[in-house]
Amino acid sequence: MRVGIPTEIKNNEFRVAITPAGVHSLASHGHEVLVQAGAGLGSGIPDEQYKNAGATIIDNADTVWDDADLILKVKEPIADEYHRMHEGLTLFTYLHLAADRALTDELLARKVTSIAYETVEMDDHSLPLLSPMSEIAGRLAAQVGANCLLQPAGGNGVLIGGGSGVRNGRVTVLGGGVAGFCAARVADGMGADVTIYDVNVARMRYIDEVTNGRIRTQFSSPLAVKEACTASDLVIGSVLVPGARTPHLVDNDTVAQMMPGSVLVDIAIDQGGCFEDSHPTTHAEPTFTVHDSVFYCVANMPGAVPHTSTYALTNATMRYAVLIAEEGWKNACTKRPELARGLTTHNGKLYTTGVGEALGMDV
Ligand code: NAD
Repeated sequence: MRVGIPTEIKNNEFRVAITPAGVHSLASHGHEVLVQAGAGLGSGIPDEQYKNAGATIIDNADTVWDDADLILKVKEPIADEYHRMHEGLTLFTYLHLAADRALTDELLARKVTSIAYETVEMDDHSLPLLSPMSEIAGRLAAQVGANCLLQPAGGNGVLIGGGSGVRNGRVTVLGGGVAGFCAARVADGMGADVTIYDVNVARMRYIDEVTNGRIRTQFSSPLAVKEACTASDLVIGSVLVPGARTPHLVDNDTVAQMMPGSVLVDIAIDQGGCFEDSHPTTHAEPTFTVHDSVFYCVANMPGAVPHTSTYALTNATMRYAVLIAEEGWKNACTKRPELARGLTTHNGKLYTTGVGEALGMDV
């Protein structure tokens, strides 16, 4: 099979969908790997390393897309890439279609077979291709949130770790899954006072046990969330309802009652966001202000740490990419049920129930 890896062109996205080890693995199974020139530079991987591992370096994106049977990407195709998606192509990448009607329509009209990383789901409901990036986005959320609290950044000037005899920062994390728990642990490590709100009691029990109660947990009811937000310096949103649009847990009225200079980091923005006022931002312009609070809503947070992210992502995706190249998407999905759950579009039909519900489309 011919496997293409184009350079990511989304604003400030420096990750790449393959490492030299992945090229070597595909090439040693007899597959042709077409890497766009410069695709790995943002992650510190020069073309030479791909070439030495067995890739062919192609100098333009159109050829990579046209010649490939399987395209491996990191982020969803953006409008400038739609025309490159050809009928019969298999696309393996993050898609986040529940918040993207335009791309959904294009994938269907162009009869692309797409498998979304974020909906590949194990029998125990864990998400093996989302988790590595959630882990990174979570850790980063505490870091950027603390930074946004700095007075010169528009924040309320609270140092998250406080001072001797001075209160520390109050951090509320909505959704204690992979991203949320990572965010909470980093915030806790910085000395903040951290509470996680979730609806999954078993998950909260786990967090309580492993942190020995140090990170507090609370059931996420609308009233409890409102009270927590108005008393917090930093609110981190990391809720996920798999394959569906994220519920808005914090409305505009709640933001109006928050402290001036408080900060809201919406990690879940790639699924539509869990604050009513959120809209996607970029690393170039990551924040905006609503009432007197600072919102950070970067949809590709791990893109800011591409060295770490590229390796973490491809460690998880590559065995599935090799399987799809070896067997074709259909057999690969038969062999690995978790991959079948990630099947999103094929031959003009939508397969993900949550996307259909979010966009009002038939599945
Ligand atoms: P996860 O499934 O591990 O965790 C989600 C948690 O949300 C679960 O514990 C679930 O019980 C909880 N939850 C569901 N409904 C809730 C509610 N009403 N109130 C409180 N909690 C609720 O998911 P994850 O892997 O941690 O991902 C979290 C989000 O981060 C997703 O939207 C994902 O797409 C996003 N993400 C964004 C970036 C980025 O760059 N912005 C990167 C990675 C992941």
